[in-house]
Amino acid sequence: DYQKEAVSISIIGKPNVGKSTLVNKVVGYNRLITSDIPGTTRDDIWVEFERKGKKYIFIDTAGLRRKSRVIEYSEKLTALKTLKTITRSDITVLIIDASNGISAQDLNLLGQVLNNGKALVIAANKWDLLKRNQKDIFLKEIERRFNFVRFSEIVFISAKEGFGLENLFGAIVKTWNAVSKEIKTSLLSKIIEEAVANHSPPLVRGRRIKLRFAHIGNRNPLTILIYGNQVSSIPKSYGRYLENFIREKLKLSGTPIKLIFRQSENPYAGRKN
Ligand code: GDP
Repeated sequence: DYQKEAVSISIIGKPNVGKSTLVNKVVGYNRLITSDIPGTTRDDIWVEFERKGKKYIFIDTAGLRRKSRVIEYSEKLTALKTLKTITRSDITVLIIDASNGISAQDLNLLGQVLNNGKALVIAANKWDLLKRNQKDIFLKEIERRFNFVRFSEIVFISAKEGFGLENLFGAIVKTWNAVSKEIKTSLLSKIIEEAVANHSPPLVRGRRIKLRFAHIGNRNPLTILIYGNQVSSIPKSYGRYLENFIREKLKLSGTPIKLIFRQSENPYAGRKN
């Protein structure tokens, strides 16, 4: 059915960044529906739409609801609602207002998405309001303040004028492909092997850390378990190297990767006993 096939997207962002304008531009309010899907509360609002043969669902956030005038909404619940929405969706699109720069509230929302390990696309909206030099300044600001989310796609849009929507959906599809891609254990282990061959883990008390085997523990948030010896001594920097290596090899744009190291000479050793 529709829900299973569709990519669900939460549109988040502080008030007035243009969330409703974006949804309106993409689908129009006439498609707003109240969900009767099991496990969701009655006041959930899902916006179903198709674009270029692909099915999508926008999951309501407080801002959309307020503007849709379907239901009166208490602003106090906004933060909680946002969190719930992030958790339930496949992909989160964080909208920021490019004409206003990046604020603490934007970074806070970004942190919430990353803490949930959710796939993320960043959309800088109101691009139409920026002059050439302001665009340059904003790009530099993005580079500086979002440097910890280099893996996410960033697009520049004008929800009002409909500019950049192709890029936005391109980024959503790319991110979704990364999130839903099948990753075989054999391939993953080979990638780890290659990563180690290119740049070996450090020596610990004269012994080299060895990594032997890896598999996927979870999807969205993507969790990878890596087995080896002396894993508790793996430096953070080496973890980051591995993460980037895996991301690069598997083209995992937009999704945080969580690496969990497990101590084991042989992942199947325990089974014999
Ligand atoms: P929300 O609170 O995040 O849902 O924000 P709205 O969609 O209500 O937008 C807030 C204000 O910003 C409205 O006056 C919109 O017309 C305006 N706005 C939204 N997107 C754009 C945009 O791309 N360019 C410009 N110039 N204004 C925009």
